[in-house]
Amino acid sequence: MTPRGSREPLCRMYDVALLDLDGVVYRGEEPVPGAAEAIAAARAAGMRFAFVTNNAARTPAAVAARLAEVGVPAGADDVVTAAQAAATLLRTLVPAGARVLVTGGEGLRVATAEAGFAVVASADDAPAAVVQGYAPDLAYADLAETALAVRAGAVWVASNLDATIPTARGELPGNGALVALVAHATGRRPDASAGKPERALHDEAVRRSGAVRPLVVGDRLDTDIEGANRVGCDSLLVLTGVTDAAALLAAPPERRPTYVARDLGALLVPYPPDDGLDELRLDLR
Ligand SMILES: [Mg+2]
Repeated sequence: MTPRGSREPLCRMYDVALLDLDGVVYRGEEPVPGAAEAIAAARAAGMRFAFVTNNAARTPAAVAARLAEVGVPAGADDVVTAAQAAATLLRTLVPAGARVLVTGGEGLRVATAEAGFAVVASADDAPAAVVQGYAPDLAYADLAETALAVRAGAVWVASNLDATIPTARGELPGNGALVALVAHATGRRPDASAGKPERALHDEAVRRSGAVRPLVVGDRLDTDIEGANRVGCDSLLVLTGVTDAAALLAAPPERRPTYVARDLGALLVPYPPDDGLDELRLDLR
């Protein structure tokens, strides 16, 4: 996609913003300045929001509580996690009610149970599937159970394949790194991944929000923007997270957003039309 202009504010052109969280609404523990105000103003103008995250460790209620802390009112129903999308994906791969080994946090356990599966914690329970997500307290024993079940032939679904998790101290190993560990040990690769840029999470967010004309909003080119492009959805890249202007200019076609802006305030104004792009570039310094 190439950047486009709009004559109307984006919050009127699109009915639902499928909003990424880290790097968009908050950065680690800190709120992104102006994000809560921009979301409130866009809501007042009629735009709805689904909060869409690759983080599978937290439950939707915990994510909603986090949003409230940074001044963004949200219910658990407004939050769509990669854990929920992974559970939906599992339903297409194994029979209803099957035993599923969950390697991950509370968010993944709850989503898997809510999808009607019998959550187990040991490969000895002969699970039909393994669902693997990041959690900060995962131990070797958890990964060992995962490897045993994968080696025994269980269907293997990853919540997401992010190599890293950005933190204030730097990039920490993400779920993709933990999946790679199990892949290295077993010689298999996951059968499916739910999170961005794969389409399962996007589909879940569109279905749950009832979006007719969604706009994906995020800070990462290789997850948010590439995911939007894969499903033909327009996207807005904000520069409040991991992507800077230099990385954006170097992006290959499949990772180019429809719109680019410094922050979520861009939802409230007409996007510069094509003849205004020079002005926009200067604005990005
Ligand atoms: Mg992000």
